[in-house]
Amino acid sequence: MAKRIGVSNWTGNQSCAPVRQVDVGSVQSLADVIAAAASAGERVKAIGTGHSFTGAAMTSGILVRCGGLNRLESVSEDGVATVGAGVRLDSLSRQLRERGRSLSSLGDIAVQTLAGATATATHGTGRDYGNISSSIRGFEIVTADGSVMWCDAENNADIFAAGRVGLGALGVVTRIAIATERSFNLHQVESVQSIRETLADWNGFVTSAEHPEFFWIPGTDAALVKRSNRTTRSVIGRKKATAEKLLVENAAFGAAMHLINRMPSTRSRVVSLMGSLPSGGERVDHSERIFATPRHVRFIEMEYGIPIDAVPEAFERVRKLVGSLADPPGFPIEVRVSAPDNIDLSTSHGRVSGWIAVHRLKGAPHDDYFRGVEAIMNEYEGRPHWGKFHYQNAESLAPLYPRWDAFQSVRNRLDPNRVFANDYTDRVLGT
Ligand SMILES: Cc1cc2nc3c(=O)[nH]c(=O)nc-3n(C[C@H](O)[C@H](O)[C@H](O)COP(=O)(O)OP(=O)(O)OC[C@H]3O[C@@H](n4cnc5c(N)ncnc54)[C@H](O)[C@@H]3O)c2cc1C
Repeated sequence: MAKRIGVSNWTGNQSCAPVRQVDVGSVQSLADVIAAAASAGERVKAIGTGHSFTGAAMTSGILVRCGGLNRLESVSEDGVATVGAGVRLDSLSRQLRERGRSLSSLGDIAVQTLAGATATATHGTGRDYGNISSSIRGFEIVTADGSVMWCDAENNADIFAAGRVGLGALGVVTRIAIATERSFNLHQVESVQSIRETLADWNGFVTSAEHPEFFWIPGTDAALVKRSNRTTRSVIGRKKATAEKLLVENAAFGAAMHLINRMPSTRSRVVSLMGSLPSGGERVDHSERIFATPRHVRFIEMEYGIPIDAVPEAFERVRKLVGSLADPPGFPIEVRVSAPDNIDLSTSHGRVSGWIAVHRLKGAPHDDYFRGVEAIMNEYEGRPHWGKFHYQNAESLAPLYPRWDAFQSVRNRLDPNRVFANDYTDRVLGT
């Protein structure tokens, strides 16, 4: 019997030992693998770059990687790009820029695959900007019987509504048509603001930029606020910004977190130092370089989307919780916003979302903190990010999604024998 090779996610809190791993060379070869697995009663799971904190991409069955399906095939006159679903977002951004196009929004990193990012509703920030899945205009999927189907608003519309955030549970997505806009630069201004003042004028904050976000540093009154807007100005401050971002957002920050972890008594001195880090300033750069930053410090994260107006109250409660913990986190809490969409299991389905993300350094205990935050979010009909750590299950999630049954009926039709199930989908979608 062949030896199983272990696989784990980016932060190492999830791992599995697939029976076999397949690098997908072509759509037809993938269809053959899936059809054979289905008739042998084996399970199949696609993995992207393994950046989910949940077990979304883990399997003891056959693990398929679509990294070879990464070519930008075409860009239509109205800016819809058709691309291999295994492309990484940074590579896609580069290929698009060569054609004068950009994605409208990205999250904090851009190393995920397009299929993986959209399967969990990955988002950036912006009151008028939806998650990446909401830009999908069509996709090709290989289903459990080996069929290859194209889905868009006119063809297989119910699969289109379900599969843009599919958690890998409907099949393996091989091509994606995604809306883009003319390439743009972003002007980002960073400032340190009082958290109280930021929350007191929450609407003002949300509308203060196309892409606003803040990081509150626990134990301080300081929030690092970032506001980014489209600009016609050319790139400025790239070298300095890159060095500073790497230092402040990774090295200095990582050192601070490790110090707090090892010597909790230094916590208050370290966090007040962090509140005064040299984070001000402005820069102009290509959108993808402003949206995303390399992350070298490993952590575990939970993020909840709640109705946008609930953020100030919910955030205050999280702040109180942090203050009451025996082992309070030093890691900043990130707050973002995103536009609504109509995708069945999108975390932003039907509502403008405010996002509250909490983190713990890799290996540090997170249970009390995360459970406490989740209990608060439950009171605001919070929806957990599908790719980030949470404790929910199908029973608690179903009432949060008006189109839950529609998704399940597509899943039952396409995958009645649960070829694409794993422990995570068993838990969050039901068996
Ligand atoms: C450091 C870090 C920063 C992050 N920042 C953000 C952020 O700013 N905003 C945000 O919203 N999220 C963020 N995330 C979460 C991340 O974007 C998601 O977890 C995303 O799903 C990871 O993409 P991936 O390519 O690694 O997919 P994986 O984690 O490998 O897989 C995720 C899901 O996609 C499915 N999948 C993968 N490929 C296919 C395919 N071809 N067909 C069908 N299904 C497929 C998998 O089966 C699985 O269910 C961050 C994560 C990390 C580790």
